Amino acid sequence: MHCIFCDIVDGKAKAEILFEDNKIISFLDINPLNYGHSLVIPKKHFENFFDVPIEELSAVIRMTQMISKAVKDSLKSDGINVISNNGSAAGQSIFHFHFHIIPRFINDDLKFKLNLKSYSYGLKKEFGDKIRLALKV
Ligand code: AMP
Ligand code: ZN
Repeated sequence: MHCIFCDIVDGKAKAEILFEDNKIISFLDINPLNYGHSLVIPKKHFENFFDVPIEELSAVIRMTQMISKAVKDSLKSDGINVISNNGSAAGQSIFHFHFHIIPRFINDDLKFKLNLKSYSYGLKKEFGDKIRLALKV
C-alpha cells in the first residue's frame, strides 16, 4: 500500500526535514497543531507501535527526546506533548509509525478533549488483573 512517509524517506515527497540518520528521519508536520509540530519516524516501514523492533524504537525515542529539546529551546515553548496514535480508533491516519512532538504554550487554547472516568469499587483491580495477566515480560 502507498505510504507518504516512505515517499519522504525515499526523497520522492517533499518535507521540511529537521534531522536524519540511517535509522530515523524527523520533519515538520504539514498541518501543525502549533507551529513547529514535528514528527519522528523510523526509516523502515512499520505500521504502528506494536510492530517496531526495539532497536528501531530505541533510535526513534532517542531522537524524539533530542528533537523535543530543540523544539522547546528554539521556540521557547512552555511544554511539549509527545504523542503516538496507534490504530484508527486512536486517531492514527498515516499507518507508518511516528511520534508527534507538539510545542505547547500557556493559554495556547489547544485542548485535547478529556472525558475522565472514575473506577467503581473492585473495577480497578479487575482491570489491573486483566492487564497483568496479558503482560509478556
Ligand atoms: P496521525 O493522525 O497520528 O497518523 O498523524 C499523521 C500526521 O501526519 C498528521 O498530523 C498529518 O498532518 C501529518 N502528515 C500527513 N501527510 C504529511 C506530509 N506529507 N508531510 C508532513 N506531515 C504529514
Ligand atoms: Zn511507510
